[in-house]
Amino acid sequence: MISPSGSTMLIDAGNNDREQQMVDYLRQYGVDHLDVILGTHPDADHIGGLDVVIDHYEVGAIYMPKIQANTKTFESLLESIRDKGLKVKTAQAGLQLEWDDQVQVEMIAPVEYSEDSNNMSAVLKVTYGETSFLLTGDAERESEKAMLASGKDLSADVLLVGHHGSKSSTSLTFLQQVAPKFAVIQVGENSYGHPKQEILNRLSKNGTQVYRNDLQGTIEFASDGQHYEITTER
Ligand SMILES: [Zn+2]
Repeated sequence: MISPSGSTMLIDAGNNDREQQMVDYLRQYGVDHLDVILGTHPDADHIGGLDVVIDHYEVGAIYMPKIQANTKTFESLLESIRDKGLKVKTAQAGLQLEWDDQVQVEMIAPVEYSEDSNNMSAVLKVTYGETSFLLTGDAERESEKAMLASGKDLSADVLLVGHHGSKSSTSLTFLQQVAPKFAVIQVGENSYGHPKQEILNRLSKNGTQVYRNDLQGTIEFASDGQHYEITTER
């Protein structure tokens, strides 16, 4: 994300084998430093590319939830963080990130500790003027329930659909509370059958317009605080 005053934030960075692509993207958008990095949770498809990003860029702050993974990918990320002299800040519900005076960035989850890494996903609500985004990482039903119970205003125009459109996420009650106009499903070719038809149906019944990386390539949302300009690669 790039804010009106030029602050930058990177939320996850894809798999290890795509790290060059990640760095190329950032370059393409003219990003030369990252004020905030958020690793939503330690799964490789989210944090895989973060080590290289940290090695290459000046970084202000890094947030991650308090859960570890016994993987080389996670170790390699911790090593990059150490080498850079950064200290990880704990991602948890209730945090307000100071990122841009005009943009409100609030962490909605994790509300409570879970042994399940997906349910420890950091969830962000980003509000700029009358426009809003809810970015859910791989949060599943358990975390959705906790977010609903927390009483936070979950409504957002744009929903980054949880867990790549898996059946484990986007429960009906949660979707109805968020009531998004647009949804983005971050998904590529995969052996899990993501996104699930059931979730696509649920979104369409809710009147949500769906964008998918596997069909449309890179998807970009630009907001002026009132309107969205949405561009897709194909
Ligand atoms: Zn994932």
